[in-house]
Formats: sequence, structure tokens, C-alpha cells
Amino acid sequence: MSHIERQRQLQQEEAGEHLFANRVRVYPKSVTGPVRRFKWAVLIGCLGLYYLLPWLRWERGVKQPNQAVLLDISRERFYFFNLEFWPQDIYYLTGLLIMGAVALFLVTSLAGRVWCGYTCPQTVWTDLFMWVERLIEGDRNERMKRDAAPLTLNSAARKAAKHILWLGIAFWTGGAWIMYYVDAPTVTVQFWTGVASTEVYFFTFLFTATTYLLAGWAREQVCTYMCPWPRFQSAMLDEHSLTVTYQGWRGEPRTRGKRAANAVPAGDCVDCGACVTVCPTGIDIRDGIQLECINCGLCVDACNHVMERTGRPAGLITWDTLADQAAKAAGTHTPFRLLRARTVIYLSALVLAAVVMVVALALRPGIGLSVQHDRAPLFVRLADGNLRNGYTIKIINKAHVPVTFELTTQGLFGAILTEADEGLGPAATLGLPVKADEVGTFRVYVTGQPTTLADGTQPIDFSLRNTVSGEQTVYRSLFMGPNTEGKR
Ligand code: SF4
Ligand code: SF4
Repeated sequence: MSHIERQRQLQQEEAGEHLFANRVRVYPKSVTGPVRRFKWAVLIGCLGLYYLLPWLRWERGVKQPNQAVLLDISRERFYFFNLEFWPQDIYYLTGLLIMGAVALFLVTSLAGRVWCGYTCPQTVWTDLFMWVERLIEGDRNERMKRDAAPLTLNSAARKAAKHILWLGIAFWTGGAWIMYYVDAPTVTVQFWTGVASTEVYFFTFLFTATTYLLAGWAREQVCTYMCPWPRFQSAMLDEHSLTVTYQGWRGEPRTRGKRAANAVPAGDCVDCGACVTVCPTGIDIRDGIQLECINCGLCVDACNHVMERTGRPAGLITWDTLADQAAKAAGTHTPFRLLRARTVIYLSALVLAAVVMVVALALRPGIGLSVQHDRAPLFVRLADGNLRNGYTIKIINKAHVPVTFELTTQGLFGAILTEADEGLGPAATLGLPVKADEVGTFRVYVTGQPTTLADGTQPIDFSLRNTVSGEQTVYRSLFMGPNTEGKR
């Protein structure tokens, strides 16, 4: 039994009495191999993308931000390369979140928690922090020995260096996060010259602190206790999902040292514990699928080294399905099934959501119109007998140039429009100018004689035409007057 297993057992006994157990510190050992190399490549890709993306420029025109990806809170816009989203486009974010969730379900049902093991920010930064720790304090045994011994000048200096480097990475991470909200080159200069906003300093500090605490101190506890994903990911898994598994049918009974020679029959597991010592969450994969396992596969590399050294075939720990394991134990084999009811459902939902998103984006209007009827008075009877209704008209001009929009109405015979604030009209068609990239608000009176006022109301359509692009949109509202008793 490893020291972690022993401590966990003690913890469980203790927790039975106190409902709380202290953390057992995990000292993961470094490992080499194809899985580790792939994990490094993913880590470098993810970190490179995160840190460099805000610096990517994208030309959008005069007075427009030239950052490729920017959530500009002051202008209430989200810029993503060629796309520009307004607050009214929030439902695209909903669509994107749905797609992300379904993609995660699909990937999990195919290959278990690979998101957790490779691309989750918690895993990526923890891996980076562990690499720094190893660089300064040495590998597992060295760190364990040093932590168990009284503090010396050497170990204090190493720990201080480690924390300074961790804080440096955390600060770089927090700073990069801010650059997704404010133009990267501008905010960098402002930050270091002391003229950035209080929010910039506050959020840089906040994200520095959270990165340092979560990746440096909390580590695997975030995955085990804080993250809800391990709790419900089992709903996406079935016996045909690929997960990191110990081939118990082949490994048992375990043999160790001299016992190996006499053990009959002897399994392939030599009980060396290498798979446990490299595990970033400190578990023993030989105990079966566990909530703490993030499917990183580092134990695969560790065990394959042992198998190679002892002249046994690789793959005692490998990615496999539970169905295939059971079949192998019975001397057969169950091939991996890519298409299953759940993967087909997830894939169909993902494709459907993607198609809806693409079509919605392609048909996205460049103008927007909203019409709000005055609450009081609902109508005014003029001296000539006509009725007048007041409306607040909002026009969204998503173009990067000023545009004059033509506003007309349908449904009210002889309707005459007047713009109150700018003094435009009276006319059957109003030309309303809206500045580039802005929302124009206008007070408009509509005067006319309704033909049928069922319950005192009559539908009226406001038509808006962009005089530059010719794009049109219609908004249906109501024209109001006295009801059948002549009152309101
Ligand atoms: S058991 Fe293996 S796959 Fe699971 S977290 Fe530990 S090292 Fe990674
Ligand atoms: S690394 Fe392989 S051989 Fe060693 S204990 Fe783990 S499963 Fe057994």
C-alpha cells in the first residue's frame, strides 16, 4: 500500500468520525513517453493560444478596434475576427454554449474525460506549475524528502524561488485575461505607466490570485471537490467509451520481487506502483474507474516503461472500453464502436446546432428596429378630427458609416409622420440619420384616421429601409384610438 493509499484510508476512518479530512499532499513523479509528449504539445498549444491571441490584429476600418478577439465592454461589442456581436445578439452566445456542452458530451461519450486530462485550464496551468516545481525543487522523491525534513536555507530559497515564478506566471495569466477586454497594446502601456483604470488593476490582481491559488495550491482538489463535471460525466459514459483502464484480466494476480518467480499463475503487474506515483491526482488506476481520474494517461506511459523493462507486452494500462476488457477476460475481443445511440444523438444535436448557428449568422440583419408606443396619453384627438399616437423608435446601425434610414408605415390610411426632436416631417416618409455603429433614438408622432378600431386598436407596420444597402425590416405595433363606446 502506497503512502497515499495509507493516508487516504486513515482519512476515511477519520472522516467517518469528523466529517472532514485533511488533504493528502500528492507528489507526482515526472514521466516520459508518447502520452506525456502529446500532453506537452497540447499544453503549449493551449497556453500559446491564450497568451498570444489578444495580440493578433484584425483591420476593421477607421475608429474601429483592430484586435481580432475583443469583448469591448465600454462599446458593448464582442469582436471575433470578421464577426461583430451587439448585445441584441446574445442568443448566439446561448447557441455557442449549447454547442460547447453537446461537443463535451460527445467527446466524453467517445473518449472519457479527455477534456479534463488535456485541455481544461485547471489541468493545463497545474501541469505548468508542477513543471516549475520539479525544475526548482526536484522530482517526487527529492520533494518528499525535503518536505519531511526540517526547513534549511537551501530548501527555503528553493521554495521562495518556486513561489516567485508561480506568481510571475499567474500575473502573466491574469494580465492576458484583461487583454481580452481592453486593447492589448494600449492596456499594456497604460498598466505599466500607472494610468490604467482601477478595474484593470483589480481584475489583474484577482486573476493573478486565483491562478496562483488554484494551480499552485488547490491543484487536484479543484477536480475532485470543486468541479461539478466529474459528478455528472458518468451519465455520458457507457461500457463502450474509451477510458484509461488497467487490464486486470492480464495484470492479476500481481507479483512483486522474489514472489514473482514462485507465483502461479503470475499476472503481468509487478506491483511497482509506478502508475500511482506519476498520477497527478494520486489514485491507483488498478482500483477501477474513479471520480478522481482525469484520463490524462500518464500512468499509461509509466506502466509501459515497466512492461518494457520486464520484457512484457505494453498496454497493461491503456485506453480501452469496459466491454472490450470483459471480452478480453473471456478470451475474445469487442471492437470499439464509434457509432452508438448516444454518440449519434450527440453528433446529430451538434450538427443541428452548428447548422442553425451558421444559417442565423449568414442571415443576420445589419439593421435593427424597435418601436415602443407611448404609455400616456395613448392617443390625442386633433382639432381636424384626426388621431395622433406617439412612439419611441430605436434604430440600430451596425454599419461603420453614417446611414440615413427611411421610415414609413403601412396599415393606417393617410398616415403622416413627424419627428418631434429634430423637427423632421410632417411627411409620409421620414429620413432618419443614424451615426456609424450606433443606436439612434427618435420620438415619432403618427397622425391619421383609422378605419376600423376593434377594441380601440388597429395594427400598424413600421417599415425601415437602409438607403445605402437597401436592407429592410418591419416592426408591427398598434395605433390606438377610442373604443367602441367612444372612451379609452
Ligand atoms: S489514474 Fe492515470 S489517467 Fe487517471 S488521473 Fe491518474 S495518471 Fe491520469
Ligand atoms: S505501473 Fe504497471 S506494473 Fe507497475 S504497479 Fe502499475 S500497473 Fe502494475
